[in-house]
Parts: sequence; C-alpha cells; structure tokens
Amino acid sequence: MRNLLASPDERLWFKDLNSRFLLVSEAWLAAAAPGHSIEQVVGKTDFDIFSRPHAAAAFADDQSVILTGQPIVAKVERETFHDRPDTWVSTTKMPLRDERGEIIGTWGIARDVTAQIAAEQALVQQALHDSVTGLPNRVALMDRLQQALVALERRPGRVGLMFIDVDDFKDVNDAFGHDVGDRVLVEVGRRLGEVARRADTVARLGGDEFVLLLSYLHEDADVRLICDRVASAIRSPLSVDARQLHITGSVGVVVTDDPLIDPGELVRRADIAMYGAKRAGRNRFEVFNAETHVPTASRSGLAVELAGAIERSELFVLYQPLFRLDDGSLSGAEALVRWRNRQRGVILPADFISIAEERGLIGQIDSFVLNEACRQVAAWEADGDLSEDFVISVNVSGRQLRDRELVDRVAAALERHAIAPSRLCLEVTETALIGELGDASRVLESLSALGVRLALDDFGTGYSTLVHLQQLRADILKIDRTFIARLGTGSRDRDIIAAVTAMAHALGMTVVGEGIETDSQLDSLVALDCDEGQGYVFAPPLGPAEIVALRHSAEGRATAASTANRKHADGVGTHQHSGAGRPAG
Ligand code: C2E
Ligand code: MG
Ligand code: MG
Repeated sequence: MRNLLASPDERLWFKDLNSRFLLVSEAWLAAAAPGHSIEQVVGKTDFDIFSRPHAAAAFADDQSVILTGQPIVAKVERETFHDRPDTWVSTTKMPLRDERGEIIGTWGIARDVTAQIAAEQALVQQALHDSVTGLPNRVALMDRLQQALVALERRPGRVGLMFIDVDDFKDVNDAFGHDVGDRVLVEVGRRLGEVARRADTVARLGGDEFVLLLSYLHEDADVRLICDRVASAIRSPLSVDARQLHITGSVGVVVTDDPLIDPGELVRRADIAMYGAKRAGRNRFEVFNAETHVPTASRSGLAVELAGAIERSELFVLYQPLFRLDDGSLSGAEALVRWRNRQRGVILPADFISIAEERGLIGQIDSFVLNEACRQVAAWEADGDLSEDFVISVNVSGRQLRDRELVDRVAAALERHAIAPSRLCLEVTETALIGELGDASRVLESLSALGVRLALDDFGTGYSTLVHLQQLRADILKIDRTFIARLGTGSRDRDIIAAVTAMAHALGMTVVGEGIETDSQLDSLVALDCDEGQGYVFAPPLGPAEIVALRHSAEGRATAASTANRKHADGVGTHQHSGAGRPAG
C-alpha cells in the first residue's frame, strides 16, 4: 500500500461516505492539488479542489457506488479545474468496505489519458477531413457511400454520385497564387453544401475534385435537375480579395439502384463521366453510360495481362530490411511484390494491387508472395544466414481477411517450408479493418493462435482501429510514412506519433516507423521511442543476396545504404537516399 501511494503513476484515493478524502496518493496530489500536502487534503471534498460541475459528477458517482455496491470501471471523463487546462482521465471507483464487509466509503484509481484522447481526436479529424476545406475526405466519403448503398437493401431507391472538377483550376492557382486557390476551393465546397440536402455528403478528394453523394433518390427524382443546380452554383461569380472570378465546373454523375455495387467502382464511373464532360467542352455535366464510357484502355489492358502474369512467372519479390533503432541491428525484412512486364518493365504494387483486388486475383498474388517469402527464409536458414529473431513480413490484402481459407494457406506455407510460425509476420492495413471487424477478427484470432505475428500496416491512414486497437491483438504497429514525412515540419504529427507510440507500448506492441527517408526523421523517431524503422535512409527493397550481405556486414546499415546507392534493385530508381546510414542513437 505504501508503495502504491508513493508511486508516481497511480492516482489513488480513499473517501468516506460523505465523499470526504481519507487518504490520497502522491500522484493524486501532484495531478489534482499540486503544492498541497496530504494533511491539507484529508477532510476536504472534490468541491474544494475541482470545478463545481466536475465535483458534482464525481459526488454522484461516489454515491452510486455506495448505494449499489457496484464499481464504476474505467470511465473516461474530462477533469476541469479552477486554475488549469482540462485533462482527460480514466477513472475506476469501488466501494470501500470494513472487515465485516460494510461499505464505509469509496476508493478509486485514475490515470491521465489526455495524450491518448488528443491523439485520437486529431487522428479522427485528420483521417476523415480535408485540411483545406474541412470537408470529409475520400476515406470518409467511401464510408458514407458504403452506408448509403447498404441502406438501399432496406429501402429500395437510388444512390447518386456526382464527380465535380473545377475547370482550369490550375490557371487560378498560377495567376493568383495558392492562397486564392484555396479560398476558391473553400467557396466551391460551401456552394456544393448549399445544393446538397442534409443527408447528402460533400467531399473533397484532393486537388480541385469534389464529390457530391446523393445518399437517397426517389425513383422519379430528376438527377439532371440537381446537376444543373450544381453547375450553376459553381458558375455564379465569386469574389476573392475584391477580385471577381468566374469559374466553371465539369460534372460527371452516376446513379445506381444496386446495393451490391463496389463503391470504388461507382466513384470510378462518375469520374469517367466527368472526363466525358471535360472532353465535350467543360462547364457541363454528363451522366455515366456503360455503353459509351468504356473503361480506360491501359487499366483494363493491364488487368488482362495480370491474369497470366503469375503463370508466366513475371512476379517476383524484393525484401526491404527493418532495423532496430536502439542498436541498429537487422530485425527482419518485408516482402514486397513486383511485376516484371515485358513491355512496361517493372511495375510497382500501387499500379496493380487494386486491379488484382477488383479482378479477384489478389488471393493468387498474396499466396505466391507468401510462399516465395517462406521459401526464401528456408533457404537463408539452410545457409546459416539468419539470426534467431529475424522476422519476415508479408502483406495480406484486406479482402483476404474475411476469408477463413487464409488461415489454412498460411499454415500450409509454414509447414511446407518448415518455418517456425514466429518467424512470419502478416501485415494488414488499417483501412482493411474499417467497419465491423466480424469475420476479420476471427481470422486474425486464428492466425495469432497459429503463432504468427500480426502487424497493423499504414497506421494513421484509416480511422476506426484506434477503437479496435485493443481488440485486434496485433503485435506490431507500423506508423504510416505520411506521418514520418511530416515530422519536423512543425506540425502536430510529432505529438501524434508520441501518443500513438505510448499507447502501442502500453498495449505491448512494437512500433515501427515506415518510409524513413532522412537522418532527421530517424533522429526524431529515436527520440520518440519508436522501436524499429524501415525506409530509404537504411535501404530500399533489395534482392535476397543483398539481404545476406547486409546480415554479414559488421556495420549492417552503412552497407545497406551504399549497396542501395550503387544498385537499385527496385529497377525504378526514383528514390533518394541519404547514403549516410549511420547507426541510430
Ligand atoms: P507497405 O506494406 O506499406 O510497404 C511499404 C512501401 O513503402 C513499399 O512500397 C516500399 O517500397 C515503400 N517504401 C519503403 N521505404 C520508403 C521510403 O523511405 N520512402 C518512400 N516514399 N517509400 C518507401 P511498394 O513496394 O511500392 O508497396 C506498396 C504497397 O503495396 C505496400 O505498402 C503494400 O500495401 C502493397 N503490397 C506490396 N506487396 C504486396 C503483396 O505481396 N500483397 C499485397 N496484398 N499487397 C502488397
Ligand atoms: Mg506492408
Ligand atoms: Mg505500410
């Protein structure tokens, strides 16, 4: 008890039946009544210390615990003081009993969760909103579109999607500067909001592209009328800095009554129709028509070729090393797929994974990479090239996660190549987990029961998983490179990373920084207590032999950087390297 009371972290208190303090811990004093002694606090109530509303709420909670004998567990609440900024705490209150079991008061324990709450709010805001206009962004739009489509199952009708592109917006930016450009975007967003009904969503996808989601249309609603209203709203003259600007927009629209259509496909169709409007001379709208709007040739062409790529052995795997930030040692590598196309050369996953997902080919690709990576690890092991704790990471597409077969496939690959499950880490992107976890969480559970590790990839680009973080039982959290890229630009990302790291550590997770490109980003991550790192500052994705070379070199990282500079295994060659590759911290 004495230890607990003296601990710097545990805010602990005991109160009598009238909510008068009997005893408080050092940490409680430091947080709630700095400068006071225990003697000064004993006999007082919350009303002497906290603001009235806060004290009243605490008193009510105490009384409920006393009356019911039931504890209040981990209640997250805002603490307001007379003289300091608010904080957030997670509080647990329990009845205090004497030796006969009679309730003689309450006791409680609280923990400061201000940093977590702040990070959560910032992440949610940032992940779902566009920073220029404050409108929902693409992630938020896709979520609402999905909801609108699901609602069609219960109430037949139609969902409409308008893709709006400001004509010649680049000219506005060039002529008047980005400040004016930004204000034009804000104004366009506002006007779209006036055309929209309350249930509709106006989103900005980036650049000068907006989407108006008409979440429910009656059978006989006239979309053309709404398009007209949108176009004329954009057309009315706009004054910025006493300047009159005349802008116009091109609008593509698609309407569906099919609740099962892929939301991404719907956006794509609206986009295609918008291009039709642009080609037809701008400042107009066009309705998507499956017959005239054939999908863009290159994308569908790639899709056909991709189907045969696996049989033709055109896929191969590169390995990007991961390093521990404390001692600079090699901790593992991530398997990244590449496609060597006869005409186009090496194609990166960004240009074919989504096609593979649409065409149902992703299962085959992921299986290939999983098997190839396991085969490679077995080969390295056989040559004595692997340390005990080297972990190979393999990406798993979100679509696979709802599929129980994945578990069997992983188990089979491990068995075939006789690899310890703890050597394998499966990376799942955060966005794949948006919405109900349902089946996915069962698949994840079975995977972790197999003994393989789980990593939450691209953390910070989705949003719902802060809530699920605890449920997911991932072992590793990979902070998305967009956060790393903004480190040091004086943004709040540093605070967010610090809070996320603290939270992940509290949950026993290892934190990995992705896409570290500069020494100063690396230094920041070391200072922020990040555990491992991956990025061009160390090495790009490499061929298997280069990974062995890395492992054998005494100053692993220095070699990695220079190897990477000499020969670019990626075959793409747009990356930059610091080349310094000096050990961290
Ligand atoms: P990811 O899992 O987040 O992988 C990291 C990506 O960041 C890789 O891109 C890597 O080359 C890149 N990268 C690493 N260091 C840096 C850096 O310092 N700066 C920058 N700008 N980028 C860096 P890559 O290989 O193009 O892969 C892109 C994404 O495609 C991966 O993101 C992953 O989500 C997906 N992917 C790759 N291979 C597979 C696969 O076999 N199956 C599935 N389903 N997805 C895959
Ligand atoms: Mg990954
Ligand atoms: Mg990632």
